[in-house]
Amino acid sequence: MDEIMSGATVRRGAIDLRSDTVTLPSPAMREAIARADLGDDVYGEDPTVNQLEERAAEMIGKEAAVLVPSGTMGNLSALLAHGRRGERVILGDECHIYCYEAGGASALGGLIYHALPNRADGTIDLDAMRKAAEMGADLHESPPGLICLENTHNRCGGVVLPISYMAAAHAIAQEYGLPLHLDGARIFNAAVTLGVDVREITRHVDSVQFCLSKGLAAPVGSLVAGPRPFITQVRRIRKLLGGGMRQAGVFAAAGVVALREMVGRLAEDHANAYTLAVGLAEIPGLSIDMGLVQSNIVRFELSDSRLSVADLLTRLRERGVLMGSMGGRIVRAVTHYGVGADDIGYAVQAMREALT
Ligand SMILES: *Cc1c(COP(=O)(O)O)cnc(C)c1O
Repeated sequence: MDEIMSGATVRRGAIDLRSDTVTLPSPAMREAIARADLGDDVYGEDPTVNQLEERAAEMIGKEAAVLVPSGTMGNLSALLAHGRRGERVILGDECHIYCYEAGGASALGGLIYHALPNRADGTIDLDAMRKAAEMGADLHESPPGLICLENTHNRCGGVVLPISYMAAAHAIAQEYGLPLHLDGARIFNAAVTLGVDVREITRHVDSVQFCLSKGLAAPVGSLVAGPRPFITQVRRIRKLLGGGMRQAGVFAAAGVVALREMVGRLAEDHANAYTLAVGLAEIPGLSIDMGLVQSNIVRFELSDSRLSVADLLTRLRERGVLMGSMGGRIVRAVTHYGVGADDIGYAVQAMREALT
């Protein structure tokens, strides 16, 4: 037991930079899990879930929140609550909802994805957004249902959308009477980079999904937050999707600890990511746009064409360092709880060796 609690097992040997989803619960989380007050959450009777949902709503600055098993279900239930069959979801073509969520809103909800180009900084051109919001009056066109943004933007390398951009997108949404949903899987990372309370970001959206199971290091869970009637609808859709859970306080307890103790340490992950990026940038054969290193994700290109990405990743793995392929010649490394500054130095050295 001591060994499990020691934190030494957090890394299980390898320096795993593939994702911040590989984080293991902290000793305080394991303690909270063991002691959690439990009940049947489908009856609304799990006190730990209720505590987590109330705390999350308050922190994120919305009226109510609901716990869901995954970010994917959080986004899907939010999209289905906002939009009707045949309506368009206006979003970026590099966003997680469009690229990585199995087309759920279309497959299960009859919504149509209207994907607009994401720029390198994670934004969507506002004129293109306005044009997409305008479409629908003509009977040939499908009406718009909602607009989605992502902050921080995962596939764009953890970039942070400026608050002024969020406000401008919100103004367009309001002008056309559309809800704006934020995929804020890593919203607290965005708040840390911007140096603001997270509510300064979320006040520009109608609903938000955020993950407990990424940088906040909880084992399971996401929250959807928004106005109370909307959350009631999300709760119904969560049930429809099979996401009504019973003694979910078992992992909600870790979520409570995540919100209390893990937000404050995200700056450490950002500092480690920056140090990693600086180290990698000095290695011949790699190219990095340092301007896009803004949170806990480092995205870079293997420009040395003598080596494939797969071979590079294998060489790193042989040296105890794991990174991920993002397609093409793009590699991704994500810093998180359990990865220390010393690990970053080691990872840079491993990369240097792998490339020589
Ligand atoms: C991880 C992630 C999700 C989905 O979360 P899961 O819990 O893995 O389903 C959604 N959006 C973004 C931006 C993510 O990074």
